[in-house]
Amino acid sequence: MGGSVGGLTAALVLRDAGCEVRVFERSSAALQARGAGIAALEATLRYLTERGGRQRADVCSSTSWIRFLRPDGGILHEQRHQYLFSSWNTIYRSLLELFDPGRYLLGSEVTGFSQSGDSVRVTLADGSAADADLLVCADGVTSLARARLLPDAFQLLGYVHGQQVLAVTGKAVPADLQVGPDPGTPDADQFRSTGAALHVPAPLKWLVDLDTAVSVGMAFRVPLTDALRGGLDRLVVPGLRVRDPATSKADLETLITHQANSRAGFRLLPQGPPTNNTGRTPSAFGTVDETAQRLAALTGSAPRAATTAKSDGQWLAELLGVDPAVWRPYRGPTVPTRPRHGR
Ligand SMILES: Cc1cc2nc3c(=O)[nH]c(=O)nc-3n(C[C@H](O)[C@H](O)[C@H](O)COP(=O)(O)OP(=O)(O)OC[C@H]3O[C@@H](n4cnc5c(N)ncnc54)[C@H](O)[C@@H]3O)c2cc1C
Repeated sequence: MGGSVGGLTAALVLRDAGCEVRVFERSSAALQARGAGIAALEATLRYLTERGGRQRADVCSSTSWIRFLRPDGGILHEQRHQYLFSSWNTIYRSLLELFDPGRYLLGSEVTGFSQSGDSVRVTLADGSAADADLLVCADGVTSLARARLLPDAFQLLGYVHGQQVLAVTGKAVPADLQVGPDPGTPDADQFRSTGAALHVPAPLKWLVDLDTAVSVGMAFRVPLTDALRGGLDRLVVPGLRVRDPATSKADLETLITHQANSRAGFRLLPQGPPTNNTGRTPSAFGTVDETAQRLAALTGSAPRAATTAKSDGQWLAELLGVDPAVWRPYRGPTVPTRPRHGR
């Protein structure tokens, strides 16, 4: 789904792996560059150079300096730095030439998809449907697939001394909510400065206007009652999916499995250590922790720990209602949960 640089690269890699691939691209004509040159990153070039028979010099030029200019054109700062550059058209056309034209389907807008067992059914704007084992959603910044994975609504839960003092459910988040700039927006409605003000495209007004954000479920207004006046110890904002529990469980397990299989991986950190590097303490997200064996014990043949010695992984699986096996092969803390201090 999506026949630009990302979709085409995925299509070529999958085709080379032996899959029968079709690319559904909603544009009715081959795509055209819409901007200046692009910095050519390793990941963008890898298919072309490693499998497409292209040399870097065929598709890129390089610079040896980076310069920051003043408004009058003078040099503010410069340093030696090698960057590879290309034009968007060069990358796109080079990828397109390597793909079977009969399988690159222009004018094919995907309007929905649904999963059933091991297969996914894709529906198209012309009313037709296609079945596949795998759907790759490379549909860009206004991704239909990403919108479908947003929560249906957010909830605000506040606690003081372990007691819940606040529970508010936000407005429904529209399924097609735009969450970032869209290069397809007409120039007249793009971000631009109009004198002292910044013009914000209408679909993104919720990012800068609180009332609009509340109306699309992306912000809350909470009356300041006596119970809240002294502040909260803890604020939790879960996203809600208004679906049946079995579908939600399956969605969450799929999400964790995909994240765990990704290069970034998935793991649970022990309670207490910081999740980000700070000036004084490094993040707990290192490459070594004891968790793999502990999780294996949790989900493998070892007997389950007694309730008082439950690991965080086990707590999380039970609280989310997912099968702990979804994170079996991955690292994560399985240290017994410490006594909780209302945090
Ligand atoms: C036509 C085009 C020209 C660009 N030119 C430049 C440039 O010159 N310089 C620069 O720096 N950046 C440019 N960009 C920016 C671009 O975001 C990135 O360079 C890069 O293309 C991102 O690739 P992508 O495959 O992730 O997503 P995108 O390039 O955003 O492509 C997403 C594709 O999915 C298709 N699509 C979306 N929804 C559906 C649907 N429901 N069904 C089927 N197809 C769908 C879109 O038509 C689009 O072709 C351009 C992007 C596009 C789409």
